[in-house]
Amino acid sequence: MYWTTYKLRYLEEHANEGAEAIAEALGCSRTAVEVQASRYGISLRKRWRCPRCGMVTFRPLSTVTGWCANCTKEARRDRIAEEVREMEEEVRRAERENRERQALYSKKHRMKKKLESMKSE
Ligand SMILES: [Zn+2]
Repeated sequence: MYWTTYKLRYLEEHANEGAEAIAEALGCSRTAVEVQASRYGISLRKRWRCPRCGMVTFRPLSTVTGWCANCTKEARRDRIAEEVREMEEEVRRAERENRERQALYSKKHRMKKKLESMKSE
């Protein structure tokens, strides 16, 4: 059995959605879709285009980010890098603060000693 031009065009344009979805849209069986696809050399393997990097992926896009696995991992890595930068900044501030406080304590101690030695002179 041959398909109408409309059905064939639909098959070509939606091949990346997989046999199941096409069969449902065209109101025919999954087998019929597979037979026609193989007759015209059309791959029914599901694929998606990532809206972030524009690459085609054979794995479903992330339901969280809507991106491919690589873009999702990249975004996660960027977030972690940002967190690390913020933590480093906090640690640097705390260390600087401790150093300055320590320096003031020593200075205070030295001044006290000097004042005491002046009194006894
Ligand atoms: Zn991507």
